[in-house]
Amino acid sequence: GYRSLRKIEGIIREEMDAAGAQEIHMSALQPAELWQESGRWYAYGPEMWRLKDRNERDFCLGPTHEEIFTDIVRDEVSSYRQLPLNLYQIQTKYRDEKRPRFGLMRSREFIMKDAYSFDRNWEGLDKSYQDMYGAYEKVFTRCGLVFRAVEADTGAIGGSASHEFTALSDVGESEIAYCDHCDMAATTERAACVDDAPDTESELPMEKVVTPGTKTIEEVAGFLKVDQKKTIKALLFKVYGEAEDQFEYVAAFIRGDRELNMTKLVNALGIPEHAIEFANENEMGEATGAVGGFTGPTGLHDCKIVVDSELIGQKNLVAGACEVDHHIKNVNYDRDYKGDIVTDLKLLKVGDKCPLCGAPVKMARGIAVGQVFKLGTKYSKSMGAYYKDENMESQLIIMGCYGIGVTRTLAAIVEQHHDDNGIIWPMSVAPYHAIVTIVSSGDEVQTALAEAIYQELQKAGVEAVLDDRNERPGVKFKDADILGIPVRITVGKKAAEGLVEYKLRKEASFTEISGHEAAAQAIAYIASELNK
Ligand code: ATP
Ligand code: MG
Repeated sequence: GYRSLRKIEGIIREEMDAAGAQEIHMSALQPAELWQESGRWYAYGPEMWRLKDRNERDFCLGPTHEEIFTDIVRDEVSSYRQLPLNLYQIQTKYRDEKRPRFGLMRSREFIMKDAYSFDRNWEGLDKSYQDMYGAYEKVFTRCGLVFRAVEADTGAIGGSASHEFTALSDVGESEIAYCDHCDMAATTERAACVDDAPDTESELPMEKVVTPGTKTIEEVAGFLKVDQKKTIKALLFKVYGEAEDQFEYVAAFIRGDRELNMTKLVNALGIPEHAIEFANENEMGEATGAVGGFTGPTGLHDCKIVVDSELIGQKNLVAGACEVDHHIKNVNYDRDYKGDIVTDLKLLKVGDKCPLCGAPVKMARGIAVGQVFKLGTKYSKSMGAYYKDENMESQLIIMGCYGIGVTRTLAAIVEQHHDDNGIIWPMSVAPYHAIVTIVSSGDEVQTALAEAIYQELQKAGVEAVLDDRNERPGVKFKDADILGIPVRITVGKKAAEGLVEYKLRKEASFTEISGHEAAAQAIAYIASELNK
């Protein structure tokens, strides 16, 4: 695994260097002061590993390095002549993930390649971003991955635009929405939704109705015999401020048949993801009038109201009455309630209208292996990173940042390249290109022929491994399959006639040829795969 990891790192280095980036290496241990300057000592939340030194000063183990790189550049760069600049490192990151899982996929210590670009202006950033985007396409293609670059949310990193590189896989945690009729492709977190056309019916007077025990949308729609599209769903939250005892209640309203997109809600509120949790209904009820299962927008007080934009045009809906076992019919926006924030809060679902062209969208799952961000001035402004232009005037540096999950990429390659017997490495990242297996290690003829083939491969620059262990043949074959080495040359009984078995890991069949022919075929095949 480590050999494959080093090969992935090698591919990344080649493509980053070719794109004009320079490699440096920074400390994983970072002082709190830099994060306080950017505001992320608070905003990053519980995912950050925090620690103190012997003098009680705060530090963290870096989850990412925007602050550190901005700090170097504000000290080292003073003139426009030093820009553009792109610095990267391949380094260990630490994140106290809520749900670490699937081995290397989501771990609390992992290797990331992180790059940071520094430009004079937004056009410069556009170019740096495009260059990195192109380099990422090359990296993931060379790693043998089938992937898609899709629009993404900027999350805890921030900035104005972002793309995620997603290796397609049914076991992936990322869900992407895409359209076959146009270029739309985005993570579902990010994907915009189209509001349904406004209703044309006229507004009817509100009417309170008894709806015993109907706490869910399904129950109330069934009880009142209305379409779920004619109901309003309430979701109740408690949002914490930066000071520990500071908080407010938030109610989000969407149409009954829709689902809430938490990322959109968090972005609308302008808060970090860790600052929000589902409200305790009793506690919230006392403060705001909300009633578990029967909360609607008309009866609330002391609570921030966030309304999905689609509700504006929908008429005569059923909503909770903020009274146990009661709902209100014919609730209409503006006349009966207003939102403090009105925005798209919906989760895009398969078959929904594409936000660009209106065709039904499709969904796929994948593993997020990399992400690129246009940061703009988020860090240069908060941390004071300026350069002097031709007129000796101070200007903010325009930044971008670009991450690849190196260890996660390793795992993603295995997810895409395996069968029931184990891994099938693409040649570019295989730990060894070829394995020479001796069937009976005690047999002198077999050993001599295997050694000769092994030497021939080595001489040609093939990374070969010789399995001369004193194990049963079945064990050796099984291990070779699990390890996934692309070419296997098996030296057995027919060694006496000079014959060996030549087999590719990805194919079931083998051919019987001379030892020399096998070596020559392996050398040619490996070279052609590596030059692909
Ligand atoms: P995710 O949404 O999967 O948590 P992220 O948006 O937090 O990812 P970034 O901050 O953009 O990730 O980090 C860059 C890359 O590092 C990601 O695209 C991913 O490949 C990798 N990565 C992030 N977190 C982990 C982790 N816990 N374990 C392994 N790799 C990770
Ligand atoms: Mg994350």
